[in-house]
Amino acid sequence: MIENVVEFFRNLPAKLCSECGEKINEQHECYGNKCDGCMDPGKL
Ligand SMILES: [Zn+2]
Repeated sequence: MIENVVEFFRNLPAKLCSECGEKINEQHECYGNKCDGCMDPGKL
């Protein structure tokens, strides 16, 4: 069952940065739709 869940997430389309189109690291999904490079460091 766990393998099915992993496969499910693996098949999801990668989120792309709304600024530069770079693929966003999924572990930062809480940041919204911008990559690390386009993220405003001041907001942290
Ligand atoms: Zn970006």
